[in-house]
Amino acid sequence: MTRSTSTAPERFWSHVVKGPAPANCWIWTGAIGDDGYGRFWVPQPDGGQRAMRPQRWLCEHLTGVALLPDVLLLHACNVPLCVHVDIDLSVSHLATGTHRGNMVERVQRGRYRNGSTAIRTAGVARADRVRLSRALREAFRDHGWDPAAIAAHKTGIESDTPTLW
Ligand SMILES: [Zn+2]
Repeated sequence: MTRSTSTAPERFWSHVVKGPAPANCWIWTGAIGDDGYGRFWVPQPDGGQRAMRPQRWLCEHLTGVALLPDVLLLHACNVPLCVHVDIDLSVSHLATGTHRGNMVERVQRGRYRNGSTAIRTAGVARADRVRLSRALREAFRDHGWDPAAIAAHKTGIESDTPTLW
């Protein structure tokens, strides 16, 4: 008999479309919450399920260490659906708040327009982020890796925010 349920990693990767180049984003095509970020349902020891942001799940999966609730994972690529987490921070598109200083520094070296030093507060309105994330997900579900959709998405996201790199 084959197992009727797949493992969490199998389910996770079935919802991810990776770009062809190592530096590309990895786009989450599963559920999206009303904040415009992905949602990944993870079984809990008590038999229930918990919805996590998929990038947080991958970070915990790779490091084996649970992220404390107040530890932020910040996107350097400005794509909320990106889950490209790597232990090597020179490759990773996400970094914890511990490394936030480095990311803020990158912002300040880049196109730095709105005077904010807090990456977290920079960004499009929540409703716009949800709309942009859903459009990106649909494009990837329909076409697979889609550089044009990413470019359009970033234009929408970054019309209001600094580019990190
Ligand atoms: Zn990315």
